[in-house]
Amino acid sequence: MPLRVAIIPVTPFQQNCSLIWDDTTMRGAVIDPGGDLPRILGAIEETGVTVEKIVLTHGHVDHAGGATELKERLGVPIEGPHAADRFMLDRLADTARAFDMEARPVAPDRWLEEGDELAVGGLVFDVLHCPGHSPGSVAFISREQAFAIVGDVLFRGSVGRTDLPRGDHAALIRSIKEKLLPLGDGIAFLCGHGPMSTFGEERETNPFLR
Ligand SMILES: [Zn+2]
Ligand SMILES: [Zn+2]
Repeated sequence: MPLRVAIIPVTPFQQNCSLIWDDTTMRGAVIDPGGDLPRILGAIEETGVTVEKIVLTHGHVDHAGGATELKERLGVPIEGPHAADRFMLDRLADTARAFDMEARPVAPDRWLEEGDELAVGGLVFDVLHCPGHSPGSVAFISREQAFAIVGDVLFRGSVGRTDLPRGDHAALIRSIKEKLLPLGDGIAFLCGHGPMSTFGEERETNPFLR
């Protein structure tokens, strides 16, 4: 399978920043660089991947806090999330201070919408708008690789919190049940925190989806 993934936990929130790449072209993307740039740059160097873009699943500081600095270091564009998270990305510096972190505001080069495609090397991911955890959360699906990146929408055994600004629990459950789970039980997903799982495993055992 040409899709490769390296997980790089970053920030005090142990957020799963990931480097994903196409093994045939060795071109890839950094997903959710929340911070700890030296660790991310180290992983890029270790793998030898040519990073062509930075991708954001949503606007929370643990996912987006390092994006502007990484963009400057690598000279690549930022794609995502959906524009409904703009209000968070504009205020990242203030949010970070509250957590004793450092971050700069982020102005994505491309906002994503439902039905868009995200290219990484020769791989193509479908973009799904999955509001609820944040209004602008997006998920990336490769049906060909049976692989999804869902940010903080769904976790192994849990779902995203909805007590943060403009969170909406009913919308979150709809996003999961109406958009993600119908894609098929066999799809493995990488989430923003904790271990990977599959949509089938969560459909059967996740207590929040009963
Ligand atoms: Zn989040
Ligand atoms: Zn998070």
